[in-house]
Amino acid sequence: MLNQEKIDALRYADIPLQGHFVDGQIVPSASGKTLDVLSPINGQVITRIAEGEAEDMNRAVAAARTAFEDGRWSRMAPATRKKVLLRLADLIEERALDITVLGVRDNGTEINMALKAEALSAAQTFRYYGEAIDKVYGQIAPTAHNILGLVHHAPVGVVGAIVPWNFPLMIGSWKIAPALAAGNSIVLKPAESASLSLLKIAELAAEAGLPDGVFNVVTGKGSVVGEALALSMDVDIMVFTGSGATGRRLLEYSARSNLKRCYLELGGKSPNIVFNDAKDLAEAAKVSAAGIFRNSGQVCIAGSRLLVQEDIAEDFIAEMVRHAQGYRIGDPLDLNSQIGAVHSLSELEANLAFVNRAEAEGAECRSGGQRILEESGGYYMQPTIMAEVKPDSDLFQNEVFGPVLAVTTFRDEDEAVTLANSTVYGLSSGVWTADLSRAHRMVDRIRAGIVHVNTYGGSDLTVPLGGVRQSGNGHDKSLHAMEKYFDLKSAWIQL
Ligand code: NAD
Repeated sequence: MLNQEKIDALRYADIPLQGHFVDGQIVPSASGKTLDVLSPINGQVITRIAEGEAEDMNRAVAAARTAFEDGRWSRMAPATRKKVLLRLADLIEERALDITVLGVRDNGTEINMALKAEALSAAQTFRYYGEAIDKVYGQIAPTAHNILGLVHHAPVGVVGAIVPWNFPLMIGSWKIAPALAAGNSIVLKPAESASLSLLKIAELAAEAGLPDGVFNVVTGKGSVVGEALALSMDVDIMVFTGSGATGRRLLEYSARSNLKRCYLELGGKSPNIVFNDAKDLAEAAKVSAAGIFRNSGQVCIAGSRLLVQEDIAEDFIAEMVRHAQGYRIGDPLDLNSQIGAVHSLSELEANLAFVNRAEAEGAECRSGGQRILEESGGYYMQPTIMAEVKPDSDLFQNEVFGPVLAVTTFRDEDEAVTLANSTVYGLSSGVWTADLSRAHRMVDRIRAGIVHVNTYGGSDLTVPLGGVRQSGNGHDKSLHAMEKYFDLKSAWIQL
């Protein structure tokens, strides 16, 4: 499906001004305000989106509430809802390249990765939850014989979803698909810098037969429309992926409004631990490099702390440097690029500042550390490897969310575990060892939502993704993800 000619035909296509998608209609902001959308590929404005305010958000929430209460979707037979979601999956798949190119233009992920991780993965997600919905049963409780105790799965009502700019379609679908499958209405607030592909999905959902008002998208600034959504008295739960700082705000908004449940998927500083008994260190270095550098490190589960056993450290770092320097970095819409752009100039500057602070704290830059291709106007950065990173340093403790790897050595298994668990995060991790018992011990001892063993970053829809500690509390993917979109409702019936 991927060929450069097709991509080039789409890359310069005019993108008209984008409105909100509310109650089945594309509408401008009440204020008429818009925001410029910059492309990280070349720093140019590619289109404008509606800049929503509280009034726009409240209108969308009201549409979602009405749709939920009148049952146009919430009381539709699950088998019928399933048909709509499967049709949506087909439509996304049919237009996968158009949607992916649109998304790459505002977010900068290399197209090779984006096609699979964005449009095609979104199609799979709608199909997965569409297929699941007519297989969810309630329960009969083991009560006394003259009582019938029923446990229903009731949709929660109006779901508010806020998603980040990295993999907006994949992460957005992980929330939209199970929320819709469960019969809820939804109001989505995409990141202001990466709204385009999600707006397209809302249009396709309507084309697939989703009734008006069930899926609404309001664009604009997080601090304005995001806040209005999370403060709304008419939103029943919030599902969020993004930074810890915004996650904290959502909890405050919940406390200040209607105590809505908030499911938070937050950042990470994931340890990737390489023992000297790993079977294939060359393979470990190759996979570990991809595990931090693909999508310029803008992956929530990126293995951003390499913990390597001290007797193999220098050789392993050298191998990682070889991979870091071998990547072809550039225009994410060029099929030859293995790594695309950093999402925004402010992210790029933040990444470089991390490198400078790390050097000031005594870390050694073994590779990269610089902005490149500045003449393109776009935002590109070399994959960067910082060694001798101390456990109490800024780079060891805090998420960069860019192509910067922190390397620290350890002596033995206990020290590896202590280092792995010594940040506030707990999202992902990796362990490379040929010792099966050690692998199991590490799975047990690492405090993280995911432990990869002898690989890094692999996953599919069948396993949950989510963190522990300050990496969050919700899980996307798998049938477990559906649980948050239902309330348990008991019926106690005297016979
Ligand atoms: P962010 O928190 O700045 O923004 C996320 C979303 O929140 C955006 O839509 C933004 O507009 C909105 N927002 C910002 N301020 C808000 C406010 N006051 N009220 C309501 N909404 C507000 O995060 P980001 O920079 O877009 O994304 C990067 C972060 O996301 C990283 O920390 C990354 O690790 C994390 N992330 C986590 C996962 C996961 O599954 N755990 C996946 C991807 C990204």
